[in-house]
Amino acid sequence: TKVLLTGGSGFIAAHILEQLLAKGHSVVTTVRSEEKAAKIREAYPSQAAAGDLITAIVPDIAQPNAFDEVVAQNPGLEVVLHTASPFHFKFNDPKELLDPAVVGTTSILRAVAASAPTVRRVVVTSSFAAIVDEAHVKDASHTFSERSWNPVTLTDVHRAPATAYRASKTFAERAAWDFVQDPATGAKFDLVTINPPMVFGPVVHYLASLDAINTSNERVVDCLRGKWRDEVPSGGPVAIWVDVRDVAEAHIKAGLEIPEAGGKRLFVTAGLFSNAELGRIARKNFPEDAERLPTEETKGGELPAEGERFRFDNSETNKLLGIKYRSFEECVVDTIKSLKKHGA
Ligand code: NDP
Repeated sequence: TKVLLTGGSGFIAAHILEQLLAKGHSVVTTVRSEEKAAKIREAYPSQAAAGDLITAIVPDIAQPNAFDEVVAQNPGLEVVLHTASPFHFKFNDPKELLDPAVVGTTSILRAVAASAPTVRRVVVTSSFAAIVDEAHVKDASHTFSERSWNPVTLTDVHRAPATAYRASKTFAERAAWDFVQDPATGAKFDLVTINPPMVFGPVVHYLASLDAINTSNERVVDCLRGKWRDEVPSGGPVAIWVDVRDVAEAHIKAGLEIPEAGGKRLFVTAGLFSNAELGRIARKNFPEDAERLPTEETKGGELPAEGERFRFDNSETNKLLGIKYRSFEECVVDTIKSLKKHGA
């Protein structure tokens, strides 16, 4: 299958790329610079030489016609996996997240509708951020599922950086569903969204330095750097997670292998986790690092109490995808091993 993967330099996208190529698919992937493109080709020299891995430069997905050229120049695309979207809290204005998220999503959909009639499905990497309702995260009588929508509005985006990020993902996902439901767009493809909560896992993308670690793996780096020695920080109220390799598998199954996934929001999660548990797994498996890891006595970072956390139900997704989620221990151990290769 010929696949267009946006944002190929990212943490999650790099796993999708690895799994796609391992399964023999042909991939066109977009990145922001030739430097990043070269790193990706260097990682897969034989596929790049054979033309099964093509890199394309899309410098700024916040431009309305960002994807026109790459889509027009690569005939025969069958599936599009749109992962590119900012996930960081280093912005001055929420627009720096909202524009690339929303315009990036509509620009890929418009480009495909206009000039890629062979595309049968577009998968958009959305998030649990588009499912959660901040008013109910501590509400044990509230259950989030594939049908839940974050009610965030534009007036909320200045509340906190995390709210701005959640809004960017919510507005982008809404724009995608609106697009495919609007007959005037001429879209001949269907849409699937993948909505993961916190994603942890090994780094397979090019990482210039540990300081450039992706946002969701930052806490593992902090733990390894000894920042949790005196107190383990709270993991926040959204205490659910999933392994990056399972998220990548979900994109591939939903995009290429399961026709019935069309039109679905897929809420992929392995369940609860806590920072305290992360610290315990690190200590148990890496005794050589004991002096920088939290000790048995270190307090903090435990799960919110049962009566103070939301419930979730992703049984529909699990039934459709049939993914056997990796355990938190396997994920943390593999993440730490990979970070050690980068100097942690
Ligand atoms: P990364 O930061 O590693 O990846 C983000 C990707 O988007 C990178 O390829 C980045 O390019 C690209 N990107 C960001 N802003 C722009 C822009 N303005 N123009 C062009 N490209 C841009 O994070 P993840 O891999 O974690 O995120 C991938 C997707 O998964 C995102 O849609 C994110 O919202 C979603 N997600 C992530 C979760 C997590 O816990 N990690 C949870 C739920 C959803 P560059 O490398 O050049 O910066």
